[in-house]
Amino acid sequence: MGEQRHRIWVAPEGCIACRACERSCPCGAMRVADGQAAIDYGRCISCGMCATKCPKHVIHDTLGIYAAR
Ligand code: SF4
Ligand code: SF4
Repeated sequence: MGEQRHRIWVAPEGCIACRACERSCPCGAMRVADGQAAIDYGRCISCGMCATKCPKHVIHDTLGIYAAR
């Protein structure tokens, strides 16, 4: 299944591995490894917090609610 099934997703390019998303996640669902953030969908509650914290705006949500401008 593609990640688009989930409300929050991370673009495959543009992440600078700053870990702001990892620190902001209340569920321990966001992990940064090898320079790329990735979501453990078994833990993610789609709260959108990570998307609001990403300085590179590479975390998106399928509804566009948290999309940074
Ligand atoms: S949407 Fe919320 S729970 Fe899911 S990875 Fe982002 S901060 Fe964590
Ligand atoms: S906040 Fe954005 S740039 Fe920073 S590690 Fe997370 S996805 Fe990458």
